[in-house]
Amino acid sequence: MTNSIKNELKDIPSFHPVVIIGGGIVGSGIFRELSLHQVGCLLIDKFDFSSQTSQSSSKMLHGGIRYLENMDFSLVWEALKEKNRWLEIAPHLCYPKHFSMPVYKESSRPLWMIHAGVFLYDILSGFKNMPHKRTNKEQTLEEHPYLRDQGLKGAGVYSDAIVDDAKMTLECIYDGLKERDSYACNYTSLVKAERKKDSNNKELYFLTMKDEITGQTREMVCEHLVFATGPFTDRLLKDLNLFSWTPKLILSKGSHLWFSKEDFPLENPVVLTPDDGRVIFVIPQGNKVLVGTTEKAATSEFNQEASQEEIEYLLNNLREYFPKAQLAQEHIMASFAGLRPLVREDEGSDLGKVARHHKIYQPQDHAYVILGGKYTTFRVMASDLVKILFSQMKKTYHPELSLTPFRQKSTYLPWKPIDLDRQKLKTILDRECPKTFEDLILRRMGVWNLEEAPHIREFLKENESLWLPKLRVPEDWAQIIKDN
Ligand SMILES: Cc1cc2nc3c(=O)[nH]c(=O)nc-3n(C[C@H](O)[C@H](O)[C@H](O)COP(=O)(O)OP(=O)(O)OC[C@H]3O[C@@H](n4cnc5c(N)ncnc54)[C@H](O)[C@@H]3O)c2cc1C
Repeated sequence: MTNSIKNELKDIPSFHPVVIIGGGIVGSGIFRELSLHQVGCLLIDKFDFSSQTSQSSSKMLHGGIRYLENMDFSLVWEALKEKNRWLEIAPHLCYPKHFSMPVYKESSRPLWMIHAGVFLYDILSGFKNMPHKRTNKEQTLEEHPYLRDQGLKGAGVYSDAIVDDAKMTLECIYDGLKERDSYACNYTSLVKAERKKDSNNKELYFLTMKDEITGQTREMVCEHLVFATGPFTDRLLKDLNLFSWTPKLILSKGSHLWFSKEDFPLENPVVLTPDDGRVIFVIPQGNKVLVGTTEKAATSEFNQEASQEEIEYLLNNLREYFPKAQLAQEHIMASFAGLRPLVREDEGSDLGKVARHHKIYQPQDHAYVILGGKYTTFRVMASDLVKILFSQMKKTYHPELSLTPFRQKSTYLPWKPIDLDRQKLKTILDRECPKTFEDLILRRMGVWNLEEAPHIREFLKENESLWLPKLRVPEDWAQIIKDN
């Protein structure tokens, strides 16, 4: 049933029962569900798949231990269930880890409360989590020798999972593309939408899509239209003016920093809980350490760079909790930021406490808008939307389908590097839909700095004839390859 991958707007049919706008984790999850139910569907994204919020997360599949404080047990229970499911379904993309939450004399939450919290977390997982631990000062320092010892009382240790967020989204798409009549086009944006009658007097959506690389536009028609556009939703729906829409999002910006393990030798994740009530995750991954995140109200969905203020906030906390590491601005290898698409509850909501529940709206016949949620619960979000869609289409929903493993795995996984050869590169180019050089190295290979991966740089240089004619290569990337 595998169709050869057609992901150019000009090559695909013009009618689709369902069109999904947005190829982040939410849109890709819906695409996969529909494909598993053999419903023809087109997924489009304005940029590369998984290049926006869904590659800028803290890269955890987690229940959200901090939501225990809000007594949001149903959210934590659901997210823990999903986390543990993905550990079984896709062990090549995620793995469990223990996270230590140290408690100091001045901490706002006492040690007994943290110990009770990690126990409750395991109960809510149905004891499927790796078991929690309660460590005293000595045990905590043995595990994390770089932590400040002054005032340390001990730690609560719970387990969550680390995920390759960009790859998980991409594999949902590869899986969806296994079915006939499923199409996915990156660098394709929705620029105009209208609901009107066709020649048979049937009400349909007439969509104008733009190929962002060639600039060409094309008309597409569909019966059902799904918006899975995350933080971009309010702006897009205002611009399209397809139906009446009151803005529903509060955008919360979260910034992260990457350090090299040489500068920050940390082996296991630590969760910092500074006095201001925020939570900072410090997560070693391979030979790097990820530190984040901030929670800052954002005014524009396009400003996705960490500000100097946010960088300093994270650095100050690192210096406070890991004084022996002596981290400074020059140790930061890279930084990135993303916007949480949180659904507005009331005006005064504290960003850290706004619930991560998702919401589905039907602002017009056969139009669906899905908002909120979190990466970990994307399968539940997709399944809820598809159930509503199927009730309109008079189709039966089969919940067990999305619990099956992905049918096409990524050729190259940065966590388990393999020797690349020409055939593997051809497979990536033909079946994994990269359209620019950045798509190839950043999201298909997981390399964000070619200087850090000399073997890949060499390989790409030797095999330039394979990828150069197929990909759009910005001058600075071409220069990097030439210079080395
Ligand atoms: C800093 C941060 C840390 C986080 N950490 C975690 C975590 O550790 N674990 C967790 O579970 N969750 C986490 N989250 C939440 C999670 O990342 C998001 O909930 C999730 O990625 C949102 O996915 P999405 O598909 O809704 O949005 P996106 O990934 O942003 O996808 C929306 C897509 O719509 C596309 N689009 C927009 N306009 C158009 C158009 N006109 N035409 C076509 N396409 C369009 C965009 O290009 C984009 O790719 C975090 C979020 C942030 C910001």
